[in-house]
Amino acid sequence: MALSRRDLLKLGGVAAAGAALSGCTSSYASTTPKGAAHAGLRMAPLPKAKGPRVVVVGGGWSGLSIAKYVKRYAPNADVVLIERRASFMSCPVSNLWLVGLVDLEFLTHDYLQAARNNNYTFLNAMVHDVDRDSKMVFTNEGAVKYDILVLSPGIDYDYSRWTKGDVELETRLRQEYPAGFVPGSEHMTIRNKVQDFEGGNFVLTVPGGNYRCLPAPYERACLIAWYMKKEQIPGKVVLLDENPDITIKKDGFHSAFEKLYKGYIEYLPGTKITKIDLGKKRLETELGEEIKFADAALYPRVRGGKILEIAGVAKDSVFNRLEADIDPFTYQTKADPNIYCAGDVRPMGFSKSGNTANTEGHIVASMIAQRLKGKEPKWKSPLTVCYSAVSGDPVRAISVNAEYKYNEKKKAFGFHNAATNEKWDGKTGVQNGKLLFEWAKGMYRDMFM
Ligand SMILES: Cc1cc2nc3c(=O)[nH]c(=O)nc-3n(C[C@H](O)[C@H](O)[C@H](O)COP(=O)(O)OP(=O)(O)OC[C@H]3O[C@@H](n4cnc5c(N)ncnc54)[C@H](O)[C@@H]3O)c2cc1C
Repeated sequence: MALSRRDLLKLGGVAAAGAALSGCTSSYASTTPKGAAHAGLRMAPLPKAKGPRVVVVGGGWSGLSIAKYVKRYAPNADVVLIERRASFMSCPVSNLWLVGLVDLEFLTHDYLQAARNNNYTFLNAMVHDVDRDSKMVFTNEGAVKYDILVLSPGIDYDYSRWTKGDVELETRLRQEYPAGFVPGSEHMTIRNKVQDFEGGNFVLTVPGGNYRCLPAPYERACLIAWYMKKEQIPGKVVLLDENPDITIKKDGFHSAFEKLYKGYIEYLPGTKITKIDLGKKRLETELGEEIKFADAALYPRVRGGKILEIAGVAKDSVFNRLEADIDPFTYQTKADPNIYCAGDVRPMGFSKSGNTANTEGHIVASMIAQRLKGKEPKWKSPLTVCYSAVSGDPVRAISVNAEYKYNEKKKAFGFHNAATNEKWDGKTGVQNGKLLFEWAKGMYRDMFM
């Protein structure tokens, strides 16, 4: 049957619409060896960049802060934040949620709102490869071209010291005894474990190295012990610490263990696990001790997110197996000045904390904006501010705040202007407890509003 004039016009309309759409859904044409593996992958459905495109991978404390402030300091930049999770859940304050002291709503936040409020684009996708030669990142939603790339993927766990390659054991540890240092299901499992606990040893571990959030395992021990005491559960927290002593806010935690949780916390410093028998629920230590557990949340050592290796910007470090190989004063990777790394993946011995990642995020954003304007970026120290709860009802907390300074002789950063407030009893502790919530609200406001 012959086509009518009207049919032809309709077809023309479809073809024109197809051509217009192909601007955003066209395929990636590889011109580089690494890119060849992704030839034909569709481009992610993003509008055409209206300025230099800054792609930030990882919507945690670091990435959210960098995306917002690059756009604020360099309004002509086209900022895209790529995050694999659909919503944000906070690790800070999550120990209080485990024992029912805050609602989940306090911890969860909306990526779309953050992007709308701050005029950048949120892409909910997993980055699985980076091609530095063609300046492309590859995601499950398609390829994205960047001018500047920021990698803020946070930590991954390193179970190798415990499992020595036994993947069955690693899978069981991840699934049955999760660490709860990456937000989401791990926290939910631990909350259920705590709230259903009937008694016996509840084992927690503190890894060696510069692990994520130095005080958090001690805070968690205090809060679980507080819960057991309140609910009269006939058990105790056994805290196995790889380190020779409490790593931060030592006096405050020691005195809370002693005065509030005698009989509820057994603290074993300098304890390295050498064998894990999940069938018999038994741990063996380097000193030949045998520790039985009724339940546990086992926190292994940490390393930088795996995307660093994939992008070819990781290095072995003293503390952790892999961290970002960057110039510590510019945050640019040594392999490629167009790629920046920040947050918990940094190799400097700064505290792996949310406040550090957020204040550093402001600084890195300002450095990127300066560079886009052709100016010389300036280094500034990030700030660590950290409140740790030692009890609930009323919440009482201790705190630390510090900056960092480079020591030329040691060729390393150290604490600068550090101060702690480790008095948890009396008015000070309750006041610190209130400040803990105010601090968290201020941080969420800064990242999402
Ligand atoms: C229990 C606990 C308590 C804590 N308490 C405090 C506290 O009181 N105060 C404090 O300051 N800090 C605290 N912290 C530490 C703080 O949570 C971290 O230091 C902070 O989250 C680090 O920020 P980040 O952006 O580097 O990593 P994250 O916040 O982990 O963000 C990384 C993001 O990258 C995403 N990602 C990774 N790889 C990819 C990929 N390939 N593609 C797409 N997305 C990817 C991840 O999904 C994640 O959302 C605590 C941590 C824990 C676990």
